[in-house]
Amino acid sequence: MGRPIEMAARLAWYILKQKVSLRKRFPLVTMLEPLEKCNLACEGCGRIREYEPVLDRVVTVDQCLAAVEESGAPIVSIAGGEPTLHPQIHDIVNGITARKKFVYMCTNALLMERMMKAIPPSKYFCFVVHLDGMEEAHDKSVYRKGVFKIAVRGIKVALERGYRVTTNTTVFNGCDEDDLIEMFQMMTDMGIEGCMVSPGYQYDMVPNQDLFISRQQARKIFKNVLDPKRKLRFYNNPLYLDFLRGNREYQCTAYANPTYTVLGWREPCYLLGDRHTQDVNDLFDEKLWDRYGVGKDPRCANCMMHCGFESASVFGALSNPKDAFKMLREGAVQNSGVGAG
Ligand code: SF4
Ligand code: SF4
Repeated sequence: MGRPIEMAARLAWYILKQKVSLRKRFPLVTMLEPLEKCNLACEGCGRIREYEPVLDRVVTVDQCLAAVEESGAPIVSIAGGEPTLHPQIHDIVNGITARKKFVYMCTNALLMERMMKAIPPSKYFCFVVHLDGMEEAHDKSVYRKGVFKIAVRGIKVALERGYRVTTNTTVFNGCDEDDLIEMFQMMTDMGIEGCMVSPGYQYDMVPNQDLFISRQQARKIFKNVLDPKRKLRFYNNPLYLDFLRGNREYQCTAYANPTYTVLGWREPCYLLGDRHTQDVNDLFDEKLWDRYGVGKDPRCANCMMHCGFESASVFGALSNPKDAFKMLREGAVQNSGVGAG
């Protein structure tokens, strides 16, 4: 089962409807975090640190479905925390796919095979497996030996059983570029739909700040790692990949990825949680975006995350037929694009 054509068609129709109703800011992907607890403690993860006081809380199935309806976006990315730890994650996923919305569920894969008993394969559902490198590098990044092997086995079993599978990789300072390329090649050869990539965001609360890279460093790494000559299968849209390589500039449009958590909607974005609000419309307020984005808030200076800039590349293509054609030709649409970290 590959990336469904229906998703691109539904997304295009949805965007057209927003434009016709003259909505200036609207979501493309709802980011849903049904809990913030995790069964790993990765070095670069901001979530398990930021939400430490509420790690025991979960968003109920009804609250999850209400948040998805409130946002209205046709794609839902389920992250966290580790979503598979939510006792009713199957009801959440199956409830969203029953509404014919496309679900991407990020996971560290430790409970992936158990999930397959409760969530059937469907064109509306895709696993997004966290992988930060080959065995040694990945196990070091997640602070536990054996996780890489479990993840690769989970991916293999999922593909055999007809699930859609992608991976999500966060690039940190000191990464071994050859090791990353080897991992992307391995995933391409295994037949997954594609690999999502993004540089790590510099969370204030992560103790080891040397982990994070500047925009300049990120572009140097991505120029090599994303070299199209290798024909590796990446999942992000080609305009965003160009942005990562340093060939394009965009301003962030993070309002396109509103993020619902155990405390409500994060404001302003998936990465910065200066406050939480109970009304998703607060995130589309023009005045909010006078304060956030590159050149407006110092915490945005090095950000290149897909949750802020992949949507920007989609919106940019709407007014540039050449870019729109490039995106369509390469079969790519905006994806969920994020794992915690
Ligand atoms: S990055 Fe993902 S797998 Fe790692 S601790 Fe955070 S939520 Fe868990
Ligand atoms: S640039 Fe956008 S996505 Fe990145 S931290 Fe700032 S507001 Fe959030």
